[in-house]
Amino acid sequence: MTAMTSTDESTTGLRPATRAVVAGREGREPGQQVGSPLVLTSTYAADGPVNYARNGNPTWSAFEEALGSLEGGRALVFGSGMAAVAAALSLVPIGGVVVAPHSAYNGTLATLKEREKRGELTVRTVELTDTAATVDALAGADLVWLESPTNPLLEVADLEALVEAARAAGVLSVVDNTFATPLAQRPLELGSDLVVHSVTKYLSGHSDVILGACVVREDGDQIFTALSGHRSLYGAIAGPLETWLALRGIRTLHLRLERASANAAVLATRLADHPSVVTVRYPGVGAMVAFDVGATVEDAEAVCAAVQVISHSTSLGGVETQIERRRRWPNEPDVVPDNLLRLSVGIEDVEDLWTDLQRALDSLG
Ligand SMILES: *Cc1c(COP(=O)(O)O)cnc(C)c1O
Repeated sequence: MTAMTSTDESTTGLRPATRAVVAGREGREPGQQVGSPLVLTSTYAADGPVNYARNGNPTWSAFEEALGSLEGGRALVFGSGMAAVAAALSLVPIGGVVVAPHSAYNGTLATLKEREKRGELTVRTVELTDTAATVDALAGADLVWLESPTNPLLEVADLEALVEAARAAGVLSVVDNTFATPLAQRPLELGSDLVVHSVTKYLSGHSDVILGACVVREDGDQIFTALSGHRSLYGAIAGPLETWLALRGIRTLHLRLERASANAAVLATRLADHPSVVTVRYPGVGAMVAFDVGATVEDAEAVCAAVQVISHSTSLGGVETQIERRRRWPNEPDVVPDNLLRLSVGIEDVEDLWTDLQRALDSLG
């Protein structure tokens, strides 16, 4: 496997927007390609550092350097966000205890529930916004799953306090940083052990890739070895093309987020003034907005059916604005209101987005 000459050290001191652009490039020797190569191979000539492509790929390494540089740790790319979640949860010993939020990404909660049903672990459910109660629940636990802001309620946890308490209690802390992205929040710097991403979302940013990643502290050798071993053995690996596309996405992450966040702030304010909107959930940063609309499931569904510029579809973090009623999914926890719409705000002209939303909301009468 090609050794990357652009290591962490070469991006030290650079600001996040610069890291997003320069990290993970190969060297500067005359004639060296500036773009990262897409390497398609299943195997390598014997006796090198990597023998087989389930264990490593130069395109993975370039992506991992870039994401690792942004999060301040060592990254491992996985075939999906859920593959990264499963890898992280493989760190819980059989019979272990996991502290988890009452509302978070529904796939994560479903995995925990499934593993609990099989007798593999016990889940202690907490409200992450209740810091004291969450800290109390840490006693004797093996791992705490943190997500902030949460999907889709956009609840914000006091990550600094929770990560510190987990450290003091000897509990492994994992932060799903998909919604905030490393540009807004770097949990490893707060002392957390592991960051998980659905790379599918903001990092890739164009709704054309399913991909995930784990990022481990620089001093987290044991966890890094466990996760990379898990990836090789269980085989939930990333395709090189998907990884290459995601790396390309990272190069513009800061620009996309800047525009999408500005759009989200405008839409959140205008939504709050619309008579059909009951509650706006918006943490004040990022490009996700959720709002409870009308009185019934039908009202919420009608808004999704009426939008013409905004895409009625699941997922988030792409350049295009997307809307969906989250409770249409059977896995969605029932603390999420039936008439809650999740809006992933994209980079379009905000006036066109508002015209579209307003027309859909006005149709409720
Ligand atoms: C989408 C998502 C996941 C799952 O990622 P996939 O790439 O769909 O497997 C995990 N966590 C959060 C917060 C998500 O939004």
